[in-house]
Formats: sequence, structure tokens, C-alpha cells
Amino acid sequence: MKKYLLSSVLALTMAGACHEAFAQDFSRHFEDATLRLDYIFAGNNNSQAIYLDRMKSQTGWYGRRTNMNCLPLQGNGTITVTDATGTDTLYMHSFSTLFQEWQSTEEATRVAKSFENTFLIPMPKESVQVTVELKNMHNGTKSYLKHTVDPDDRLISKHSENETLPYRYLHKAGDSKEKIDIVFVPEGYTRDEMKQFRKDCMESMESIFRHQPFNRLKDRFNFIAVEVPSEHSGVSIPKNNDWKSTAVGSHFDTFYSERYLTTSNIKKLYDILDGIPCESIVILANTNEYGGGGIYNNYMLSASRGPGYKSVIVHEFGHSFAGLADEYFYDDQYVTIYPAGIEPWEQNLTTLTDFGSKWKDMLPKGTEIPTVADGKDRYTKVGVYEGGGYQSKGVYRPAQDCRMHTNQAPDFCPVCQRAIERLVNFLCHED
Ligand SMILES: [Zn+2]
Repeated sequence: MKKYLLSSVLALTMAGACHEAFAQDFSRHFEDATLRLDYIFAGNNNSQAIYLDRMKSQTGWYGRRTNMNCLPLQGNGTITVTDATGTDTLYMHSFSTLFQEWQSTEEATRVAKSFENTFLIPMPKESVQVTVELKNMHNGTKSYLKHTVDPDDRLISKHSENETLPYRYLHKAGDSKEKIDIVFVPEGYTRDEMKQFRKDCMESMESIFRHQPFNRLKDRFNFIAVEVPSEHSGVSIPKNNDWKSTAVGSHFDTFYSERYLTTSNIKKLYDILDGIPCESIVILANTNEYGGGGIYNNYMLSASRGPGYKSVIVHEFGHSFAGLADEYFYDDQYVTIYPAGIEPWEQNLTTLTDFGSKWKDMLPKGTEIPTVADGKDRYTKVGVYEGGGYQSKGVYRPAQDCRMHTNQAPDFCPVCQRAIERLVNFLCHED
């Protein structure tokens, strides 16, 4: 599924080593609790600003407790927690946003808009500085907001555990504080359709687990389903003038692109998730309409029925969980997303600017660059095939076909598989 004009914000690859010298100790700096930070990102195509909206705490921290002060992937933006003096980095997290994608649309040239973004960080024991940065295509900071968080601030609201919505584990590999928690959220399922939602969750989870490396890494993941009914069945389809009242108010036609299904109601989404262990969000939309969208460390949304929906779910999960890029391209090359001279941060594309940081070590001896697509071993033969990231020229992908390329590919290509496995190892600290 097309991620649409993903933000042109590109950066270097693996975001560098952890800041060595600083010995990490989760419990020295953080409580076993979560601080939810809601922000507003606002602007147009050439200016932007970040505002803090509100803060909320809840018991339990379910994110990683290792590799706290470094990133597995650069993403298009970062949130960084330092001590009060700004000397030691205590926690980092990267992400991409719908806002940055929107900034590359025509609409952004004529109107300024605001978008919600929410991040979860471990609750600090003492005052800290929090910095949110949005990057430009040269890996420079385009805008940032730095603010202090005092854990004793009485205006940090508190989530009451008895307000947590009902949820259940569909697959439990272990304690949520040790495993990666993926949460299914129902969108457009009425109260009477919750049984269908449970069935759709199981099929979606099984689709993900049928792909490598998720299959062999099953013991690292918990899958959870939260049950929240929508007033109406189905989701909004603006091109049909069909608007519905649903749990997170998603709709097709995002940025006027028919199949792009997203929600802008991020605070509403996190209101549903408050109190539930959650590191990655999978929103299942109760519709036969083909479509979806996935944004790195933000959420993915996909139709949960209709032709090819299982492939779409796995593809979008590749975006939202693993930060993988689209490997398909358009021959008319109407847009340049990955300019020459800048290496994308996504692990499954290269502009050959810094190919050594990508899958060069996986190339069979004697592989020509670029590699001719001969139709043989389409999914498994690693090469440097021109065309990817929507561009037919100047961007290269690792295999002729892959789950990040077409719905017909039976699995992720070897390079995508390695990228996912590295990320899981980073999050679970098992090498
Ligand atoms: Zn791939």
C-alpha cells in the first residue's frame, strides 16, 4: 500500500552507537511508570512549530529498558530525554509523522494546519529536559521544542487504572515489561461486531507470524486486543460522501489520495490505549475497501477484510513497526523523495551514497551494480536493483520482489528480514 508522499525528510542510516561513557541504569533515572506527552505540530510547506499540549502519567513502563540512550533507526524526528543540565542522554526515541508527509502536498502550499502527535516516555525520577526535533532531508533539525518536565508537576494528570478499557492477550510470550507489545485497536466495529474484531485480530496476527523473521521471533512479541466499540459500522469514505462516527475517526482519501486510510485523532487513539501495555499500534478498519497506511513508530491502519488485506496488513506493519520503506516505484517518476547524495535512513533502500552501511555485505560475490532483474529467485536473490521508494531512477532496492514491493511476494526479502531482526534485538537486547 502506498505510503503516499512520505516525508522527504531523510537522514543517515543506523543512528549511531549508543553514547558510550554513560552507564545506563533504568531504575536509577526512571520510575516503573509512563509519561504520555501530547504535542501539536503545526505549519505549512516551509515553516513549522511544535507545541506541548498536555502531560499525563500512568503506572507501568512497557517500552525498552535497554539501549535507552541511542536509536535503532533515525526516523524523521526524535524525542530525547536528558538530565536537567542537558549533559547525559537518558532516553531516545525516533518516529515519522503524518504532518511531515502532509508538508510535501500541494495543500500545504496554501494553508497552515495542525496535527496531533503523542509520545510515551518512561517517567523520570527527577526533573529532565525533553527535546522534540523534526528533521529535514539533510538530517538537519528543521524545528525543535525543548521543555522541562518536573515529575512533581501537579498539572501532570493521572490515569486511573479502573478507567483502562478491557483488553486481552491474543499471544503472550511473556511479561509485557520484557516483550514487545503490539496492540490491535478496532475501528468501525460496533458493539455487536466485537466477535468479528477478535476473529480479524487473530487472522492479522497469524498473517504477521507467517512472515520471517516474525515467525522465528514469536517469543519476543505479545499481541493484545483492546475492545472499544464504534457508533457506526465501517469507516468514512469521503469520495462517496460517506462519513461515519468511529472509534478513532479515520477516513480514506487522506491528502486526497483515495486509498490512503489514516486518522488524525491521535489523542483519541491514546485515550483508548491509556493503561494498556503498548509499543506498536495496529488499527484494524472494518471495511472491504482496499487501503491503509503505516507511519514509523506512530501507528498503522489497514482494512481488515476484502481482497489482499492480509498482505496489506503485513506491509503496513513493515512501515510502522520496522521503519521499512516502500520498494515499489512509478515509471513516470513524478516525484523525487530520495534525492541523490543523501542515503535514506530506511534500511531497505539505498541511493548508493553510503551503501556500505546497508546490505553491501549481503551481496553474492561478483554481483553487478546495478543488478539486472532477470526474474529468477525474485524474492531471495540479493542485489542492487534500480527502482524503489516511488522513484524509477537513482534509488535501489535489495530484491526483485518483497512484501514491501508487491502484495504477491510471499515474504520480506532477506535485507528487510535482517533489518527487522536487528530492530527486535535492539528492543529486546538480545544479539
Ligand atoms: Zn525488502
